[in-house]
Amino acid sequence: MNVLRLSDVDVRGKRVFIRADLNVPQGDNGAITDDTRIRASVPAIRDCLARGAAVMVTSHLGRPKEGEWNAADSLAPVAQRLSELLGVPVPLVKDWVDGGAWQGALKPGQLALLENCRFNKGEKKDDDALARKMAKLCDVYCNDAFGTAHRAEATTHGIAKFTPVACAGPLMAGELDALGKALAHPARPLVAIVGGAKVSTKLTVLKTLAAKVDVLIVGGGIANTFVLAAHGRIGKSLAEPDLVGEAQAILDAFPGKVPIPVDAVCAKEFSATAVPTLKAIENIEPDDLILDLGPSSVAVLATIIAKAGTIVWNGPIGVFEFGAFAGGTKALAEAVAASAAFSIAGGGDTIAAINKFGVADRISYISTAGGAFLEFLEGKTLPAVAMLESRASA
Ligand code: ADP
Ligand code: MG
Repeated sequence: MNVLRLSDVDVRGKRVFIRADLNVPQGDNGAITDDTRIRASVPAIRDCLARGAAVMVTSHLGRPKEGEWNAADSLAPVAQRLSELLGVPVPLVKDWVDGGAWQGALKPGQLALLENCRFNKGEKKDDDALARKMAKLCDVYCNDAFGTAHRAEATTHGIAKFTPVACAGPLMAGELDALGKALAHPARPLVAIVGGAKVSTKLTVLKTLAAKVDVLIVGGGIANTFVLAAHGRIGKSLAEPDLVGEAQAILDAFPGKVPIPVDAVCAKEFSATAVPTLKAIENIEPDDLILDLGPSSVAVLATIIAKAGTIVWNGPIGVFEFGAFAGGTKALAEAVAASAAFSIAGGGDTIAAINKFGVADRISYISTAGGAFLEFLEGKTLPAVAMLESRASA
């Protein structure tokens, strides 16, 4: 990886724009349920403040509609947590793209958090006009958002074309180094676990991934899509019916590589108080929701995990936030922790689960990234990294 690093840039007296990944999981009331990504973003910020830069930090949070501010996706709770971690005030700037009049109040050694970058029209489309305006706000652009490096958006990609300097922050550089080293020559068998709720984005990387790994364990909405392909029915469970063909193609291309769940913990409604019922997969009814893998399925997975040489994990295998449906993810987390394999886990909710079940210190490497980590694993050059590389070689 040939990129300029923040540590090699003289930032004294400069305006530094840091794109961080502060996209943390939140509870119903907006409270942050896991602050790992915020803590992981602190070193870059602290370094710039200590070296006398005027620091601006932005991130996305959730999936707001562009062009409209909304309270639920505001970075306000993040500003508060960041302020606690840094021990300095962290003002949140709302309309920050145009003009930059607010910059007058930002002195060297001070920090401002710029409101959710996905409130800006053109962010997701990587719009050049938006990127140019943002670039005008700074002297140095620093991308420290490894978790969003698989997306070419205005704050992760476009802006880097127009700033005088574009560099990688310590988290970005550290993740690339660590994952590159761990996955260059992985000990076999290499087992990937892919679960969670972002079915369409994750399922599309699975074909390439399946070719690289020895076993592909699926959970959550991903597993449901495979069960739908294999058995034709999953009731009302979360899945991506449009991608059943894709799931079937993977099953056909790699026979025996993807263990299909044999049992599941089901409910009739998606709620923390729903009554859990354990069912064999053949007995799923049309009004059932699969909310967790059952113990027989998890036992099969635990045996595979125990024999693995390397484990990469993104995505909880059930709705672990609800006690009655947390058993599968908890057992899986414990199996990964107990395995002698080199284990890598990543993803906002995956980290939340790992912390909840108290196994973080027995995972070999925890990445802040989920989707980016899967694409890195797939062997893709991440667009945000490619942009930093092209700036470094120019
Ligand atoms: P990550 O943030 O680790 O990349 P995702 O965001 O893709 O993971 O998915 C995490 C979410 O998936 C969790 O909130 C969890 O409740 C949900 N989930 C897991 N299994 C199921 C399921 N069977 N049905 C619905 N949601 C699920
Ligand atoms: Mg998530």
